[in-house]
This record gives sequence, C-alpha cells and structure tokens, in this order.
Amino acid sequence: MNITELARRLKIPTQQLKEELPRLGFDIGQRAIKIDDAVASKVIALWNKRKQYDQSADYVVVEKKLGRTEAGSLTKEVALPPRLSPRSFAELLGLPVTAVMAELFKNGVMAAINQEIDFETASIIAQDFGYQTKPAAAQTEIIEQAGVEDLKELLKETEQDKLQPKPPVVVVMGHVDHGKTTLLDTIRSTNVAGGESGAITQHIGAYQVETKGRKITFLDTPGHEAFSAMRSRGGRLADVAIIVVAADDGLQPQTLEAVEIAQKEKLPFLIAINKVDRETADIEKVKKSLAEINLLPEDWGGQTICVPISAKKKQGIAELLEMVLLLADLEKLQANPARPAVGTVIEAKLDKGEGPVATVLVQAGTLKIGDNLIAGQVGGKVKGMRDFTGQPVTQATPAMPVRVLGLKRVPQAGDIFRVTTDDSEVREVLRHTTKFQRLPQPDSVIATSESEEQSAAVSLNIILKTDVLGSREALLSSFKELSAPEVRVKVIKTALGSINEADVLQAEGSHAIVLGFNVPVQPAAVSLAGHKKVFVKTYKVIYDLLDEVKKQLTGLLKPELVRSQLGTVTVIKIFRQGKSEQIVGVRVIEGVVKAQTKARLKQGTEENAVFELKEVRLGKEVVGEVGQGGECGILLVGRVLLAVGDNLEIYHEEIRQRSIGRL
Ligand code: GDP
Repeated sequence: MNITELARRLKIPTQQLKEELPRLGFDIGQRAIKIDDAVASKVIALWNKRKQYDQSADYVVVEKKLGRTEAGSLTKEVALPPRLSPRSFAELLGLPVTAVMAELFKNGVMAAINQEIDFETASIIAQDFGYQTKPAAAQTEIIEQAGVEDLKELLKETEQDKLQPKPPVVVVMGHVDHGKTTLLDTIRSTNVAGGESGAITQHIGAYQVETKGRKITFLDTPGHEAFSAMRSRGGRLADVAIIVVAADDGLQPQTLEAVEIAQKEKLPFLIAINKVDRETADIEKVKKSLAEINLLPEDWGGQTICVPISAKKKQGIAELLEMVLLLADLEKLQANPARPAVGTVIEAKLDKGEGPVATVLVQAGTLKIGDNLIAGQVGGKVKGMRDFTGQPVTQATPAMPVRVLGLKRVPQAGDIFRVTTDDSEVREVLRHTTKFQRLPQPDSVIATSESEEQSAAVSLNIILKTDVLGSREALLSSFKELSAPEVRVKVIKTALGSINEADVLQAEGSHAIVLGFNVPVQPAAVSLAGHKKVFVKTYKVIYDLLDEVKKQLTGLLKPELVRSQLGTVTVIKIFRQGKSEQIVGVRVIEGVVKAQTKARLKQGTEENAVFELKEVRLGKEVVGEVGQGGECGILLVGRVLLAVGDNLEIYHEEIRQRSIGRL
C-alpha cells in the first residue's frame, strides 16, 4: 500500500505519519513510498490502540476502596500459541467466534473458522479486545528445542562407509578493531581460486578459498555475535575459529570472551597475532598474556597455535591458512555427500527482482537444483543456485555456501534446512505458512520478536552498544523486565564497540536514544549528537544504565490519579448555604471525615456532584478530622446545594508520577 493511502486511512498528513512510524516501532525510512500490506495492517492496529491511549483521561485512575488498598488492575492476559484457529482463539478469549472473526475481517484477515492464524495476527486482535498477550511458553520452548535437536539428529550419519573428508568452516572472532574484517578481506582477495575475487560484488555471508589444493570455508561475518546467534539455534556451524589479537593492543574483553565461547563450544581455535607490521607490536607480550590464561603458545611448549600476521600488509596469511588446515585435520572433518542435503541458513533476504534469497551452508549431503527444501518454517523447491562469486552452480557439496532461489518466503538466519523427497511434507509446510503468516518484510523494517512488537503502544527506542556479549545479554534480559503494558523498551540495534556517528544518525532517524556500556563515544559522534539533539550516554555500572532506561520509560507513562476512599457521612443539618460555599452538619457513618479532601454526593439531588471539603468544625473550633459516629460541621465548596439526608462519600485524591518499578 502507498504511504499516502495509509495516512489517509489514519486521517493524518503523510509527513506526520512518517514521523510517527518510528515511534510506533516501524522504521521504514523517510523516503519510503510504499509499505508492505502486512506491516500497514499492523500500523493501523497499533495506531488505533495508541489513539485510545491518547484519548483516555490524562491520568490512569487508581481507586482505593475503604479497607482495601490494592490498586485495581483491569488488564487481562492471554497466552497464545504460535498458530491457532479462530475457533480456539475465541475460546481462549471467552468470546463468540463470530465476534473474533468480525474483528479479523476488519483487520483484513479472511480466515475460515478452522483455518489457522499466526501469533502476531492473533495478538493484534486480542489487544483490540483489551487483552495483553504473551506466547504460550511451553509450546515456544518445544519448538525451539525441536530445532536444536534437529540439526544434531539430522547430521547423524548412518552410512559410515560413505563419509568423505570435508573442507573446514572457519569463523573469525576477536576484539573490535583488532582486524577481523581486514583479515577476512585479505584472505578473500588473495586466496580465491582462479583469482575471481575481483568479480565478487556482494558479500553473501560466507566464501570459500583454496590453498594447497584444499578448500576452506570462511563465515564472512566478523565478530562472535554472528557466531553466537547461529550457535543458539542448535548445532555448530564452524569447525575452527581464528581469534584475532592485535599485537599492539593485547588481550581485550572480547578476545577473552571469544576464547571462552570457543572453549565452551569445544571449538578448536588458533590465535592470529595481527598488526605485526606496527612499530608498537609486541608479539612476545601477547604470548605472555596468553600463557597467563592457560593458553601456552606452541613454541613455548604449549598447545596453542599462534601465527603472527599482518592482515593489512598481507603477511603470514599462507601460514595462517596452513595452520587452519592442520587444526582441521586433527578434527578429521567428514560428511556424506551422497545423501539429501542438510545445513544452516546463514543469511536471507527478500530481493526485489529474485524474491526470497537465502545463503545456506551445506553441512552434509549435496544440494541440487530441483530439490524440495524446508528451511525453518519455510518451504520451496531449489530453482537456482549461485556460489559466492555469483556464478550459477547446479549443486553444492558439504561446507559449500550457496545462494538459493525458490523458497516461498524468507527464512531466518540460523534456521536449519533440509532436503526432503516427500512432496507432501513441503506442501504441508507451504499450506501452513503461505496464507496467513507474515509476509517477508523489507530489510528496512526492523524485526522484533512478535510478542514484544505488539505488547505496547508507546516505545522507548534504544540503540545499545556494549563492550562484550555478556553485558549485552544481561542488559537485554533486564530490559525485558522493565517493559510494561503501556510502555516498553524496543532495542532497535545492538552491537559491540564504541558509539559512532552511524549510531547517532540511526538514532535520529528512529527517535532512539543511544546507550553505551563500558564503551567510549567517538569524538565525532559526540559533536554530531549535540548537533542533532540525540541523547547519547555511556555507563560503567549496569544498574546506572537500567536506572536511566527506567527514568526515560517513566517519562512516557501517564501519571496516576490515586483516589482513596476515607469515609461516608450523612447530612443532618444545613447551617449556611451561599452561592458556592455551604456549611452543613454531618454524622460520620463510616471511616473518617477530613479537611482538605473531596466529597462526592452519593445519594440526593444531583448524584456524583463533587465538592472541595475545606474545613471540619466541632462547634466553633476547626479540627483536622472526626471519626466514625462523630458529628461535626463541614465547609464545602461546590455548585450543588445539599439537603438533609444526603449521603456524601469523602475521599482523597493524589496525582503520582508512576515509575516502572511500581507498575
Ligand atoms: P575489526 O573491527 O576487528 O573488524 O577490525 P578492522 O578489520 O576493521 O580493522 C581495524 C583497523 O585496524 C582498521 O583501520 C585496519 O586498517 C587496521 N588494521 C587491520 N589489520 C591491520 C594490520 O595488520 N596492520 C595495521 N597496521 N593495521 C591493521
């Protein structure tokens, strides 16, 4: 749908819509003309919800009844499975199925009573009915678990005699700026077979090089972030890790973390001591630090292979690759090329011309054109394949990365794929996924987890930069706990390393704040942030950072009007009645009557008329309060004239700024 059309439906100017979209969590860019229909319907649903929120009173009213102090919570919560039919959905909500179907219809979903809708759609509809949603926990876990088991299970080889050696798959890890990207570039440009590297215009997430007639596959995503993302989907993608350490900077937090990850994963690794061309390079010092963390270098009598290199000057690369092969040989890496292919999706995107395109890494078997493929939740038939140089290929053997065309939708990076000879299985996957599941989103739309995306109307957008993965994970999980029904944290980007100009620009475009943990802000980013008025701040203590987030979330919350019931009185005498002031005699039936409170007419001439209760008097004396059974005079300010026999409710009102901890 065109943006202008969407703006018309929302009854706002197009420019305003473009400005509001990032606030709602949709980053479609200022120059976008079209918006995906599925995204548009989400925008409409969120917009309506937010409108309700904006139009509601300026306060969230909390009633405290006499003798009961808990704040009344009207929010209902429903746990939704990943897919469900309108019939079971209606049962979960306790609503007539026709009402649910009508609401679905209004949102542009034409689902028959027993046809399945996905979590995201159900979530939007449930929220329209006043429910908060969350994924049904057990089921989500089972599905993820199944994925994890799958790869290990799928890679198990029954035909041992068909096993053949396979090229190693290498991941490059290490501290930021130690030269991972440069090393990957250098290896690509110097070792691609036949010198085709010049023809490589696109990075597809992995490439293969040849050295001494043997192939090595490199995962072309520097940083252990990519690695850990893939690791979490189960199974292991890499066979060997190169941990890059800059010789002039030594072991740094991300180096140590990379070592930890490799050790935990039992992933063989070697150390590339980089930047040895620099005058300040101190190889011996690096080795000493390695020895101190129990990684005694080989030439010092230990087991850790260390190769001095200069990624920039292209020195030591041949030796490094030789050592990679040596490590791989110790592992005896094997796979059976004769079976249907199994592997992992490394990257996937929606190409304007070609449709869904996925880079997959074949881990066992051979992938061929015409194969039926299931990747995660997506099915299809391999229509075409290209190697990393863009050359068409007809088959891909173990450890080979290929771009695959022919999937019906875009799978997710980290999804496991497998070839199946059973046509009906693919049809089943397609039947489940094509009709109602989210359409592939353009790259510019930032994906968040489904439950998060719909859980609130107003979001605090954050770009988070941290020193190591550990702190990032800790912060991300703490953020989850901070979100509340009406406001939530939305992390639009996280990365390791210092805060740079790109972060500030992205924050400006998506109305985000930039928070750093144990990382510096680059000087250029400081001045840009000042100029663009982007909030940028760094922290050394996790709790300080969380406090900032709490503070900012609190700022998005409407204040709370706490109404505490104090007592009830009956009017027994009228002393004096003026235009707006009156003094009446009352008997306290329940609780207390207090000065500087409010009174509401419960029974009498004009119900619910409200008065300011200015004074309480016993005879001529002004007192603070009078308790149950007592009689006193009260001075009230209000329009309505009271009569003997009227009942007044006495209450106190207080406006409180809510804070996230008290929701
Ligand atoms: P990454 O963050 O680990 O991917 O690091 P980069 O590959 O982006 O490198 C960071 C900086 O170090 C860049 O300015 C590189 O040019 C520089 N660099 C990388 N390798 C070498 C090297 O071997 N020698 C020298 N002198 N500089 C290098």
